[in-house]
Amino acid sequence: MVKIDKFQVHAMIAALDEAERPIILTHARPDGDALGSSLGLCRYLKSKGKRPEIILADKYPDTLSFIPENEEKDMILIHETGSEAAEKAIAEADLIFCLDFNSFGRTEKLSDALQASAAPKILIDHHLYPDRSQFSTVFSETEVSSTSELLYYILLKMPEIEGDARRLPPGVGKALLTGMTTDTNNFSNSTFPSTFAMASELLAAGVDRDGIIANLYSRYRENRIRLLGHLLDSNLKITGDGVAYMIIDKGTAEKFGIREGETEGFVNIPLGIDRVRMSVLAKEDEDRFRISIRSKTGISANRFASTYFNGGGHENASGGKLIFGTDIANDTAVLEKYIGDSAKEFMTGQKDDEK
Ligand code: 5GP
Ligand code: MN
Repeated sequence: MVKIDKFQVHAMIAALDEAERPIILTHARPDGDALGSSLGLCRYLKSKGKRPEIILADKYPDTLSFIPENEEKDMILIHETGSEAAEKAIAEADLIFCLDFNSFGRTEKLSDALQASAAPKILIDHHLYPDRSQFSTVFSETEVSSTSELLYYILLKMPEIEGDARRLPPGVGKALLTGMTTDTNNFSNSTFPSTFAMASELLAAGVDRDGIIANLYSRYRENRIRLLGHLLDSNLKITGDGVAYMIIDKGTAEKFGIREGETEGFVNIPLGIDRVRMSVLAKEDEDRFRISIRSKTGISANRFASTYFNGGGHENASGGKLIFGTDIANDTAVLEKYIGDSAKEFMTGQKDDEK
């Protein structure tokens, strides 16, 4: 089960006690775990009489807009649409919680302000290889499903919670269960005994899981499903070594009217094919292709991401990027060849490793 270091818990309690302007930061283009853990912590801090703000590099996708309550939406500052207010909040903060990222760079537009701040920084994260030197207190655990799960076990250690999920302030459990559900792809990956224990305790405490599931998986726009159909029918390629890949260029995303966050989950689908061992999704963004990678046990998505796509993440779920201006990312045909060639080189190496 998840071990939470009591000295770090004490450090967090002491830091909180002194803090007048605590803020919460998470990674750029927040996903369900980033937003769920941030709101879970925000609700907890509010119950302690604090007035925390959540600072995001970019707006969260519409698909996750059910997570914050309406009255919470103005506690969230978004750099993309209000850079001055976001940077001011970071500069004035006297305690910064860093959730669901392992180094400042992952906050993208927030990273300069974060770097410039002298405030104590508490990391709560489940990614591999955290840059410990950047934080004053580090809660880093990779054997958990999500940051939401790690935060859940940290909050249980708070004196007034007494290890009892029913004592968590209103809305905390719901936010954390939501974040854990998205990071495990609804309990299909990265689950540990502690993950089910958390779910069980939160359900017993009355959290409405059916409501969470309905919001997450039954409220997509039709466009998303149509694009998925198109990709599986005419875009998906599978190499002889079992690497599946799909590329969504801007034209295709526009044709289907796709919004940010609506391709979430696509990369998992080809893994359902028996011979597929790793799946890659490349999506064209403003100045880069964003790469999502998922792999089956025995294949390191993390190593594939760091070797070929300037990225990282977890062993079986990673991501990266190819910035425009390089030959590879300027032309979809070249990109496609790059993915195919990288996959071949990587999987050939895997075979050698296995000998
Ligand atoms: P996703 O495919 O859902 O965008 O990301 C999967 C995992 O890879 C997440 O844990 C995420 O934090 C990580 N990840 C995504 N993009 C990058 C990146 O550019 N750099 C690093 N280091 N990790 C990334
Ligand atoms: Mn996460």
